Amino acid sequence: MDPLSREHAAARDASDPLGGFRARFVTDDPQRIYLDGNSLGRLPVATRDRLAALVSEWGERLVSGWSEWIDAPVHVGDMLATGVLGAQPGEVIVSDSTTVNFYKLCAAVLEGRPGALVTDEGNFPTDRYVLQGLAAAHGRELRLVGDHGDVQDACARRDVALVALSHVAYRSGALADLPGITSAVRAAGAEMVWDLSHSVGAVPIGLRAAGVELAVGCTYKYLNAGPGAPAFLYVARERQAGLRSPIWGWFGQREQFAMERPYDPEPGIRRFLAGTPPILDLAAVEEGARLTVEAGVEAIREKSVAQTELIVALHDATLAPLGFSLGSPRDPALRGSHVSLRHPEAWPICRALIERADVVCDFRGPDSIRLGVAPLYTRYADVWDAVDRLRELVAHGEQRLVDAEPGRVT
Ligand SMILES: *Cc1c(COP(=O)(O)O)cnc(C)c1O
Repeated sequence: MDPLSREHAAARDASDPLGGFRARFVTDDPQRIYLDGNSLGRLPVATRDRLAALVSEWGERLVSGWSEWIDAPVHVGDMLATGVLGAQPGEVIVSDSTTVNFYKLCAAVLEGRPGALVTDEGNFPTDRYVLQGLAAAHGRELRLVGDHGDVQDACARRDVALVALSHVAYRSGALADLPGITSAVRAAGAEMVWDLSHSVGAVPIGLRAAGVELAVGCTYKYLNAGPGAPAFLYVARERQAGLRSPIWGWFGQREQFAMERPYDPEPGIRRFLAGTPPILDLAAVEEGARLTVEAGVEAIREKSVAQTELIVALHDATLAPLGFSLGSPRDPALRGSHVSLRHPEAWPICRALIERADVVCDFRGPDSIRLGVAPLYTRYADVWDAVDRLRELVAHGEQRLVDAEPGRVT
């Protein structure tokens, strides 16, 4: 059978060990192909049911519910730590947004540690902005390197306090050498903070094995926790007592309900909590993460690699002749779970693909269309059909039939 045929893709679905997981998600849209799970994952059926039950529980229990709800940031964090992140219980909390958690860790590191801040110029905007703000507030230099290969040079003068990078680059999908960069940065005497937003739930991450001490990441992408669901924050146990959150909130306080005492943070990971946790959202993180833990990140990664390989192969065979080029690393070992396809008309092509062909992708400027695979619910046949609809649309110039004005959200 031709490995690039639709028949072959369908046969792979029939023997896919993860194939059963698709039914655990809400998919009321048989025509639609959703390749944007790297921006917002699908809704798990269990989450819909759990949230309905939890809303009722709120109505019945009211304030007495807090005696159980209050530990959710740590309990859900433990599930992520052991099932997804390769960390230990007590090293992860789920709270606030990725932006806020990133700020908390970077600010904690800078307290009492002189030196420059380093990131790469292609890093996710919120990370660059937070670092810019911290550099301005603390009177530090922010060094932007061209790519991860330049990080060691940027640290060579040993005048760097902090390096912060993303594990998977949001535009190209490039996968960083997490253990290698971490140990090089540590050897240069600097702290390393990782943003795992685009890898968590799609790429195996052994935080402790890689010697990572500080990390944050998102739960609403591959972990399917829902729009605006809280993020996670990881601090290796041995670093916890020595780092202080810049937000002195009552949820980080030792003996929180002995309310008269001055601020004295918890010794453990709870010191990075700030205010009252969003209990409904935390339940959604728990249900989303549970599916990933059940499937196993290794199995997810295996299917993700096979599916991005299929996109690359179909690109070479059918899209390259139409003016596309590959915007992601060709070697799957250096790639996360999405493939960026570059084209001079990327924006109208992306619009047309969504509006006219019912393939949900997204656009990242200046010229990339991202096709993300989420192995818990993306089928091989979806990948095949999406590339085929894309080929057909561009072959007929249908991108010239849509409104090319950029929207508020791309
Ligand atoms: C998605 C993403 C974020 C999102 O941050 P929010 O605070 O949730 O808006 C942050 N960093 C990276 C690398 C991301 O991919």
